[in-house]
Amino acid sequence: MNRRCSFLDPFTLVSNSDAHSLQKLGREATLFDTEISFQGIYNALKTRDGFAGTIEFFPQEGKYYFDGHRKCDICWNPVTTIDNNSICPKCGKPVTKGVMYRVTELADRTIEQGIKLSEDFYSITSLIDIISEITNKSPNSKTVQTEYLRLIESLGAELEILLNINLSDIKTVGGKELSEGIKRLRAGYVSIKEGFDGEFGEIKIKTKT
Ligand SMILES: [Zn+2]
Repeated sequence: MNRRCSFLDPFTLVSNSDAHSLQKLGREATLFDTEISFQGIYNALKTRDGFAGTIEFFPQEGKYYFDGHRKCDICWNPVTTIDNNSICPKCGKPVTKGVMYRVTELADRTIEQGIKLSEDFYSITSLIDIISEITNKSPNSKTVQTEYLRLIESLGAELEILLNINLSDIKTVGGKELSEGIKRLRAGYVSIKEGFDGEFGEIKIKTKT
């Protein structure tokens, strides 16, 4: 999204987790391929030599990504909002605008141009949510939590499982559905339902889009 705005080009964009709950610490990260020292990180951020990109959740999962009214069941992308003069057809009031609308206002590049310039980032969803989708049980259920801990203990850290660990090893430990799901996630073949007006978006890995 940010790379659609050329005035941000001089800045190296980093990604860090919010710290509002323990299990969500470390879910977003900045990647370095340099000496891990103050000077090493400083130089990488300044010159981008040694800066390897960022890991982050899909922005569409955010509660205010698209525009609309939750109670009126109206969810619009910015173009549709503009076409409708920002007025909800159900209640006649202005819709709640999301971050994509603001990006569109500020952008001087198309979506495609922005994507081309955003090579160094990796979109992920959480392993808990993937297990929850496969098992069809709540993320907080004992089944999902137990399986999550088993996978982490057997295979390694969550980000390693999502991004790097060999798919055949994931299949051996976690089963075919999980390895297929992570394969699709890595390739970006996920089904996305954008968040709007306070409602979280949804990322599903089973349905190829
Ligand atoms: Zn409305």
